[in-house]
Amino acid sequence: MVGVSNALSRVADHKARVAGLVGLMPVAELPVADCLGLVLAEDVVAPVPLPPFDNSAMDGYAVRAADVASVPVELPVAADIPAGRTVARALEPGTAHRIMTGAPVPPGADAVVQVEWTDGGTSAVRVDRGVAVGQNVRRTADDVAVGQTVLRAGAVLGPARLGLAAALGFGSLPVRRRPRVLVLSTGSELVGPGVPLERGQIYESNGVMLAAAVREAGGEAELLRFVPDDVEAFHAAIAPRLGSVDLLLTSGGVSAGAYEVVKDAFTGRGVEFTKVAMQPGGPQGAGRYQGVAVATLPGNPVSAQVSFEVFVRPALRAAMGFAVVERPTAVARLSAPITSPAGRTQFRRGAYDPESGQVVTPVGGPGSHLLSALAASDCLIEVPEDVTDLAAGAEVTVRFLHGE
Ligand code: AMP
Ligand code: MG
Repeated sequence: MVGVSNALSRVADHKARVAGLVGLMPVAELPVADCLGLVLAEDVVAPVPLPPFDNSAMDGYAVRAADVASVPVELPVAADIPAGRTVARALEPGTAHRIMTGAPVPPGADAVVQVEWTDGGTSAVRVDRGVAVGQNVRRTADDVAVGQTVLRAGAVLGPARLGLAAALGFGSLPVRRRPRVLVLSTGSELVGPGVPLERGQIYESNGVMLAAAVREAGGEAELLRFVPDDVEAFHAAIAPRLGSVDLLLTSGGVSAGAYEVVKDAFTGRGVEFTKVAMQPGGPQGAGRYQGVAVATLPGNPVSAQVSFEVFVRPALRAAMGFAVVERPTAVARLSAPITSPAGRTQFRRGAYDPESGQVVTPVGGPGSHLLSALAASDCLIEVPEDVTDLAAGAEVTVRFLHGE
């Protein structure tokens, strides 16, 4: 273990600080169609059975199995039952009703003969093969009984669960609502698309990236991209919005130079700035300004995005009620050697190849401005604080940049 300056915060400590900032989101009743990916806040109990009535599993003929016990046999077709028919007419013995998939099986019928086993007749039908009692009939409550708890509080709402809720007649569900995040990019050098760059200017990228990361995590993002390095302008930008956000997420303006607007605006006002023992992403800040949770990320794009992954994403997922808040990880072997600074956890960008026996290839160098390397990566290679040299073939933990 190489000496670590006491001035540095541990990654785990800063993570805990950010995790505690955003509380559990309140429960909101949202339209089912808007609940994808959200966490259910209460158990869902079936108000109706599924299926709600005995219905046909086939296009064919509703019959009494006894009437087709010896085949071939011809039966008069006494009725036609398309799906959606709500008026029930009883089946008389010795007759058939033509019935469509999903249509209600008439009282008196106990089976359905599929159309392929008949001549398809409309006034009379010849049945060539018999059926057993219950055949091709989907019974009431086969799937779900009334009063059954079909989804538990804490369930993550994917497409099938939303489909089930809709099938049970729910128009809305109680969920933990999405956290609202104000994403704010600081820097007088930042300009927008369509503006030819003057020397010293760059196109703003962190805001787009972090707002997308917030949405990918399940949050709602409002984006303010061009806040100059001016404390007054900074306060003017955030003041009207503080009342409506759960988290203020800034990038830039927190390192050791002059004109560090975020630091200048928040120092001594509830936000604590620190240097975390990590690379990239050392300069960080977290706290509460006028009651609103604040996380301040460094300006270098790779630092900003990596710190979002390490600190902010788990906090947002926890606030949304997810039981699992971390990305999946895997153990992989390095395809090439890497070095890492002593006393810092390094998060190198990597491309994971599960085919070749869990091998990960470092992409680009450690520079926190190498955005194209991040864009070409699908994981972060985590190098522990006390490790400075890793040979090709060494085992490392990779943290994926996708997945829950
Ligand atoms: P700062 O932390 O403000 O000193 O920024 C560190 C580096 O990141 C500088 O090279 C900035 O130009 C760059 N940077 C800061 N904010 C952004 C942004 N929103 N988009 C792209 N680059 C940025
Ligand atoms: Mg700056």
